[in-house]
Amino acid sequence: MSHEGIRFVSKDEQARETEETRPLPRIAVTPDKVRVLLTEGKGLEIDWTDGHRSAWSFAWLRDACPCATCIEERKKEGRKAGQPKGKPAQLLPMYTPPAKPGGAHPVGRYAIQFDWLDGHSSGIYSWEYLRRSCQCPECTFADTETAGAPN
Ligand SMILES: [Zn+2]
Ligand SMILES: [Zn+2]
Repeated sequence: MSHEGIRFVSKDEQARETEETRPLPRIAVTPDKVRVLLTEGKGLEIDWTDGHRSAWSFAWLRDACPCATCIEERKKEGRKAGQPKGKPAQLLPMYTPPAKPGGAHPVGRYAIQFDWLDGHSSGIYSWEYLRRSCQCPECTFADTETAGAPN
């Protein structure tokens, strides 16, 4: 009897959002080094066990929050993971400080969680979700669906 092929609902939800269901080898979703560049305010960097390196800005991560509420919100607004919200046109432009977490901590051995300064912290960023959302040119070229908004 094999349990291979059985997937959890939350994982399916994430896979559907990134339109990517190709299974990744374990070494591709196992971080070797995880750096949260909190003091620099830069973002998250991961060196994967397969030798690949990924980096995400905090702004991207906040707009790619994988919690049910944020996924639902993005679906409604037709935004991809990491794509910033559109500002309502009738409002005067207001300065919104870039998203930054007050802290970050591991969730088990499979994910990382951020305590965003805006009070949101329900998103659990699994290593697999992050690897599938890698922003490097190599990965965004291979899968333009997960590419962030152009800078
Ligand atoms: Zn969220
Ligand atoms: Zn990559």
